[in-house]
Amino acid sequence: MKTGQISVQSENIFPIIKKFLYTDQEIFVRELVSNAVDATKKIQTLSRIGEYSGDVEDLKVEVSIDEKKKTLTISDYGVGMTEDEIEKYITQLAFSGATEFVEQWKDKEPEQMIGHFGLGFYSAFMVAKEVTIVSKSYKEKATAVKWNCDGTTSYSLDKGKRKKRGTDVILHLTDEDAETYLSQWKVKELLKKYCGFLPIPIEFEKETINNTNPLWAKKPSELKQEDYKTFFEELYPMQEAPLFHIHINTDFPFNLTGVLYFPKINQALDNRKDRVQLYSNQVFVTEDVKDVLPEFLVLLQGVVDSPDIPLNVSRSALQSDSNVKKITAHISKKVSDKLSEIFKKDRADYESKWEYLDLIVKYGMLSDEKFADRMKDHCLLKTTSDKLHTVQEWIDHAKANQTDKNGDTIVLYTTDAKAQHMSVKEVQEAGYEVVVLDGPLDVHFTGFAEGKYEKVKFKCVDSEPVNKLIEKEENIESVLEKEQQEALEGAVKSLVNEAAFDVKMESLPPQQDLLSIHRNEWERRMEEYSKMGQSMPFGDLGMKKHTLIVNTNHELASKVLAKSEEERKEILQHYLDLSMLSKNLLQGEGLENFIAKAKNFIQA
Ligand code: ADP
Ligand code: MG
Repeated sequence: MKTGQISVQSENIFPIIKKFLYTDQEIFVRELVSNAVDATKKIQTLSRIGEYSGDVEDLKVEVSIDEKKKTLTISDYGVGMTEDEIEKYITQLAFSGATEFVEQWKDKEPEQMIGHFGLGFYSAFMVAKEVTIVSKSYKEKATAVKWNCDGTTSYSLDKGKRKKRGTDVILHLTDEDAETYLSQWKVKELLKKYCGFLPIPIEFEKETINNTNPLWAKKPSELKQEDYKTFFEELYPMQEAPLFHIHINTDFPFNLTGVLYFPKINQALDNRKDRVQLYSNQVFVTEDVKDVLPEFLVLLQGVVDSPDIPLNVSRSALQSDSNVKKITAHISKKVSDKLSEIFKKDRADYESKWEYLDLIVKYGMLSDEKFADRMKDHCLLKTTSDKLHTVQEWIDHAKANQTDKNGDTIVLYTTDAKAQHMSVKEVQEAGYEVVVLDGPLDVHFTGFAEGKYEKVKFKCVDSEPVNKLIEKEENIESVLEKEQQEALEGAVKSLVNEAAFDVKMESLPPQQDLLSIHRNEWERRMEEYSKMGQSMPFGDLGMKKHTLIVNTNHELASKVLAKSEEERKEILQHYLDLSMLSKNLLQGEGLENFIAKAKNFIQA
């Protein structure tokens, strides 16, 4: 028997390793099983190139637990290691790797790192107080060796007992971790998560855990529609079938494979689970792909696999990595190509899916300029009568009737067709058409579209009186004299809280309401932005303010002025209540008073 010291600068890295990634300690499963898979693949390669003539049939990795001994064992029939190799690869190399890793990351937030890569073999010490390796090399005349290390910096090397070629890594679990990792259910779950698609069969409790030849690793030409469906069900059991998929299969200038599914989603941007999974050579890395994939693709589902994504760097370093940038751009292109293909091939099909595509397409356009350019002509607007048009089609259509005196074509929209029903109706009666923009990103999208299309403005139907929404060349004189106007203004102002309402006198066509309430387009957008957590350049806008427009040309305007002060007040109050009611603003005591008054009209 031989004993030795692991030479380290930083006294004892084991406690550091242990504490280091305690939130993510389960990754030891991935590290040890993938080492076993690597060793197995090596023996296959040696056999294939004629360097090894022994048996390489039915290779597998076995994981087992022993509750009495409190051990978790990972066994393989791979290349194995000789005594010298254990010295070299485990004691020296793996150790220096782990030391380097700890040095690099000890002062940083481990969450910063994608999937906690780089720790390798020594991640075993996150859960084990002692680790034993029993290995027998494939090399001729090799004998079995046993390496043992109890979590200090000393280790022993001795003769081992093993007949077959390969390696057992035996983890003697710490008391606190034993409970977790001796649970069959837990171990199975972890194996499914990290090893579900490894290329060598992984067996646990006599059951094969993984699919060694997942769909994304196959050639698209060999696959049928049905295969994609089955794979989706394998990834996300019990979920509604996706709309369609994209198979990515590139090996130049980087290696990237994957299958992305468009799910049937049409709202909630956050809190989504079952997202895209990132793999590296079929080893699961993370579901938190935020910094790796184009931002908007967090809304998709499926798998992306690339050994060219650097995993042992921080997330911020990742964003500036040139491979990651290229991969991101490539995926974004694939997605827009697919969408554009469906649009061109079968527009009716595209339109039927639009309610689910809406959010992803807009998110993509807002966050990725190139994507926006490619998707510009495939982004649709829905009218209040459920017809779909591309933005350009709609602008061309609206141009004749909805262009104002400044030459701006006005796209009228509603953010809530039900709540804004009366404004929509009024606008339609004036001969205009309305589109529905009620998605969570639409406030950003309107601003974005105004920047992309020249002389186009978006206005919400209730932002102004109808004839102001699309101002034409006409000047309407006020029928009221200046003094009359002032008297009316004073009377209205005495009824409202001026902190909540901006009272404005306007000479509008006589058929337009005496009092109407509007929400300034720009202020509403700003409020939406701040609701979405965007910081405002000018701070909080404070209380939401509405504009109360008094139409001085309405026939009641001069009539009320002829009444006594008391009667005038009563009429205006009633009118104001109705306007507020129509905008859902009449609440509390105001509503109570209004209802009491209205009940007086009911006569038995
Ligand atoms: P990496 O896998 O990145 O090389 P590890 O720390 O995981 O780093 O492993 C260090 C080395 O130990 C491996 O490169 C390999 O040579 C050797 N090794 C680890 N596990 C096994 C195994 N099950 N069979 C054969 N060799 C192994
Ligand atoms: Mg490894």
